[in-house]
Amino acid sequence: MSKRDYYEVLGVKKDATPEEIKKAYRQLARKLHPDVNKDDPKAEEKFKETKEAYDILSSQEKRAQYDRFGHAGPQGQGFGGFGGFEEADFSGGFSDIFDMFFGGGGGGGRATNRPRRGSDLRYDLAITLKEAMTGKEVEVKIPRQENCPTCDGSGAASKSDIETCTVCNGTGQEETMQNTPFGRIVNRRVCSACHGQGKKIKKVCQDCKGQGKIRKTKTIKINIPAGVDTGAKIRVSGEGEPGENGGPTGDLFIFINVKPHEFFERNGDDLYCEVPITFAQAALGDDIEVPTIDGKVRLKVPAGTQTGKLFRIKGKGAPRLRGYGTGDQFVKTVVVTPTNLTSKQKELLKEFTEAGGDDTYSQSKSIFQRFKDAFK
Ligand SMILES: [Zn+2]
Ligand SMILES: [Zn+2]
Repeated sequence: MSKRDYYEVLGVKKDATPEEIKKAYRQLARKLHPDVNKDDPKAEEKFKETKEAYDILSSQEKRAQYDRFGHAGPQGQGFGGFGGFEEADFSGGFSDIFDMFFGGGGGGGRATNRPRRGSDLRYDLAITLKEAMTGKEVEVKIPRQENCPTCDGSGAASKSDIETCTVCNGTGQEETMQNTPFGRIVNRRVCSACHGQGKKIKKVCQDCKGQGKIRKTKTIKINIPAGVDTGAKIRVSGEGEPGENGGPTGDLFIFINVKPHEFFERNGDDLYCEVPITFAQAALGDDIEVPTIDGKVRLKVPAGTQTGKLFRIKGKGAPRLRGYGTGDQFVKTVVVTPTNLTSKQKELLKEFTEAGGDDTYSQSKSIFQRFKDAFK
């Protein structure tokens, strides 16, 4: 059995003042009081109904809840099994909970005409190691949305072509009643007439076809600081997509990717490279030329240099992004075994071996010894 509307029970309008409600109740109570209606069995029921209606509508808080939720709210029926909320909680955060449970979540029940920040944009930029070391000013072409300059982003042919939506009165939201297992609730949806914009455009801007935005490729100068490495992000403020409804513009993020170098490897602020030296250079020592990222330096290789020995060249690494100074360059020597020997060279090497001398491999003695020990 459906309950009668409380306003109907008291015979007042929805916008009745508290005085009008009180007056209507007094008149009805006098008329329906069981003491004066002993012959009418329905009078008591009617009297109770009147009293209940007055209890609700005379309380500012309960009346507001009733206006919002109908009978389900003030009595708490339906909501009881929902986690036992106090009545006072009804008027508070409940609309959010409804949005969540009844499909309004994720913005479905929210107006879309509020200011929103524009999207951030990502641009992947590949640079050479040298550019990463020295820094560089580069120009990047960013395809992005921009506010249409003709209509200033409104999408309308002129200001007078923008009207407030009559369906939602500009709120961007539509309210509908819905019956749910929890009672009757008010469901807010994005206005279907204006899609939440709160306004209607009579005549659209021809340049953007009413979108308010146009796609454009903008050339932006980016300063790449010396010392950047792969994974570095450079934020260019305000160069993202435009905001909605007057919201701020997003940012542009340049993601740096340093291309691999054929000769140098980077580890933090230091650079590593391998330099081949001949058997003779390794044994006798030499003054060799070593490339750096911006030129070359001379490096003294001492006599008896082994493969894998690391030499440090100070200050030839990457500039430190945070802090002062630069990293170092490390040079690893690789002794190259000669191939395609002439018979003369073979002869000399045999002679060299026979000339022997116990101390020739003194530095490597322990290595040869450990190798032999492994077979014992
Ligand atoms: Zn336009
Ligand atoms: Zn609307």
